[in-house]
Amino acid sequence: MNLDAYRDSSEEFLAALNGEYYRHYAGLKDEFEIEAIYERHQELFTRAAVEELREQAAVPAPGTDERRRRRMLLGFAVEGHLGQATKTIEAELARREAEASIELDGERIGYRESTVAQANEPDGDRRARIEEARLSVTEHDLNPLHREMLEHQHELAQELGYPSYRDMCAALQGLDLDALHRQTERFGASTESSYATVVEPELQRTLGIGLDGLRRSDLPRFFRAADTDPSFPADRLTWSFIETARGLGIDVAAQSGVILDTERRPKKSPRAFCAPVRAPGEVYLVIAPVGGRDDFSTLFHEGGHTEHFANVDPALPFEFRQLGDNAITEAYAFLFQHLVEDPEWLRRRLGVDDDGELALSARASRLVYLRRYTAKFAYELELHGADGGAVDALADRYAELLSAAVRVEWPRQMFLADVDPGFYCTAYLRAWALETHLRGHLRQRFGVAWFEDPKAGKTLRALWHDGQRLTPEELLHELTGERLDFTVLLEDLGLD
Ligand SMILES: [Zn+2]
Repeated sequence: MNLDAYRDSSEEFLAALNGEYYRHYAGLKDEFEIEAIYERHQELFTRAAVEELREQAAVPAPGTDERRRRRMLLGFAVEGHLGQATKTIEAELARREAEASIELDGERIGYRESTVAQANEPDGDRRARIEEARLSVTEHDLNPLHREMLEHQHELAQELGYPSYRDMCAALQGLDLDALHRQTERFGASTESSYATVVEPELQRTLGIGLDGLRRSDLPRFFRAADTDPSFPADRLTWSFIETARGLGIDVAAQSGVILDTERRPKKSPRAFCAPVRAPGEVYLVIAPVGGRDDFSTLFHEGGHTEHFANVDPALPFEFRQLGDNAITEAYAFLFQHLVEDPEWLRRRLGVDDDGELALSARASRLVYLRRYTAKFAYELELHGADGGAVDALADRYAELLSAAVRVEWPRQMFLADVDPGFYCTAYLRAWALETHLRGHLRQRFGVAWFEDPKAGKTLRALWHDGQRLTPEELLHELTGERLDFTVLLEDLGLD
């Protein structure tokens, strides 16, 4: 195998795939034509290519960059091997999702748009009806495909010689899932008694209900935090991001590789995203504005990804620019996202003097979110550890774990749709921990207004320059000498 040719071809494949992802999810086209892209590059993902890369990955000495690169290529090849086998189902899922709609009081709302409508709906009963209608589409039109896809992924992992999909992900990504699970369990147990104290007053204030009266369908409205809208005017949205970047010494308008897409389109995904078609040369930042804090939060999150990918050293090998451990890019995304709840940033960038209310509201949302993710991770460990056949039996387990963590009756119908491939939830969990350390480091070196200090920008650009060459554990060790541990979030939330 010619490794350099394999690398070049992989980069072309990713550029095509991310470009197609951008066009479909930005609502520029209905079709999600990934099958032709896989066809064109099918030699990358054959069983033989995977086997050969597996051998090649073991050749260079541990700790060398060549070893890192080959391990990343192997992970990419296996992901592609599974993606190739499930591409038809994936394209069909995207097509159905884009075309599906729900009916509410004689009015049609797009399936994807319905979550936005739900977050904007002040009437709790109508929120419940929107969710019920959407769950019905999920269960009947989408779950059969989700199930097929998942079973296929599990089978393929075993065909490749791994005991389970879970073992495959752990081996390829070098993850100690059990250690991470112990940390998230500890976080869950430690926040058990404070959960109601932190969340209840905020629920009362924003929704007028407590945990007793809360329904799952109210959560998008809760996260939407409509009562804080006056502090987050829509006309300051893009401006505040550009100004924040400027404070760090970055001129977004002059960054040739960055394309901001904030236009409203009916079929645009309500979930904001960043599509790094070429890192650093062509990076799309896409959001569908809903209004309020959520818009700022998602723009800054995706803006963090965008700046990371746009600032990667173009001379780095492809693997370090576009592959590697996504907990790194997620940490940069969370670092920017967190600014939106930082009193100092609010005062300096939006002229908002927070008397503590915004911070309390953000803290409550964060706690709900973090506990939801720890439960989702626990569930995915069971789901992906199961050796086939037993998938349906896990719907109740999903509802049980999520209900207990968030203290609301959680719908079992989401047990297949609420699963990101390849244990992506672990990238978020480790990124939350890494971001907490990184933010602490920046505050300590550059003060509470670090986001206005070009020297902090220089530190960040140096980190971004290195792409995702290191693991998050190595990056943190090099930066501060600390150990990555999820329970650092307890301290960050003031709950230790
Ligand atoms: Zn992200």
